[in-house]
Amino acid sequence: MAYRNLLCRFVLVFALLLLSAAGPRSARANDARLEVSVSIPPQAYFVERIGGERVHVNVLVTPGTSPHTFEPTPRQVASLTGSNIYFGIGLPFEERVVKKIKGRNTSFSFIRTDEGIIRRPLDLPAGRTTDGDDHEEGGLDPHIWLSVPEIRIQSVNIFEALADADPSHLDMYKTNLDRFLAELDAVDAALAEIFKPYRGRPFFVYHPSFGYFADRYGIVQVPIEIEGKSPTPKQIERVIGEAKAKGARVVFVSPQFDAKSAEIIAEAIGGSVVPIDPLAKDVLHNLEKIAAKIRQAFNQP
Ligand SMILES: [Zn+2]
Repeated sequence: MAYRNLLCRFVLVFALLLLSAAGPRSARANDARLEVSVSIPPQAYFVERIGGERVHVNVLVTPGTSPHTFEPTPRQVASLTGSNIYFGIGLPFEERVVKKIKGRNTSFSFIRTDEGIIRRPLDLPAGRTTDGDDHEEGGLDPHIWLSVPEIRIQSVNIFEALADADPSHLDMYKTNLDRFLAELDAVDAALAEIFKPYRGRPFFVYHPSFGYFADRYGIVQVPIEIEGKSPTPKQIERVIGEAKAKGARVVFVSPQFDAKSAEIIAEAIGGSVVPIDPLAKDVLHNLEKIAAKIRQAFNQP
């Protein structure tokens, strides 16, 4: 009997020890990193800058793919199911994917980082005006991750969502946010200075990713691609005419698009094709890189 009593006590003590080692459930959940999914690499950068070591980020759109036509594979859809938060940015595939996931994972929250951003209209391609012969409207410009005011709004949205999901680390998120916003402002001021002498100057791009960037610094983006389609030979002729008239020497291309027409145009104007990547992850560094390349294009004789 005494032995049995002792065994019982031993089991009880052992169980208590186990419990205290594991801690209460909520404390354990607090120490786990947040699993976060995003649509594109620039969002991953924003989330990591604000979330620091508290977040693990999964990116849906793989490098070299255009987010406009992207459709996630079943494996990519599955990669979302373990997420605490999915940050969307208003791309066409997001709502469809979220619908698929919601049934499987009830703790999943879908947050739009573009909440509160007023979108500019997409720039019309070279050689076309709003009152021209074809009346298709370009719609609204989705490229909100390459301009400081829009990045600020997204960063605050991300901060609020992380603080909501993980309130015990709010102070850390706030410190990270403030530091990031300060760096953004410094880059913004430097770029404004760079473009001061070039206000109103046009730059030719295959795909119109740089509209917010151009608006911010008073320069003019002229796209070649038309609603996601390559231009026809006739349209290419018009672009060449406009590029020549404006003295352009550079046509910018992005790795997400097959831009043979850009090469044809560059050759015709005696200029060159220069790559810039609108989807590079390190956005702060990329903004400086983009600015340097556009300035160089403006300075080409
Ligand atoms: Zn785009």
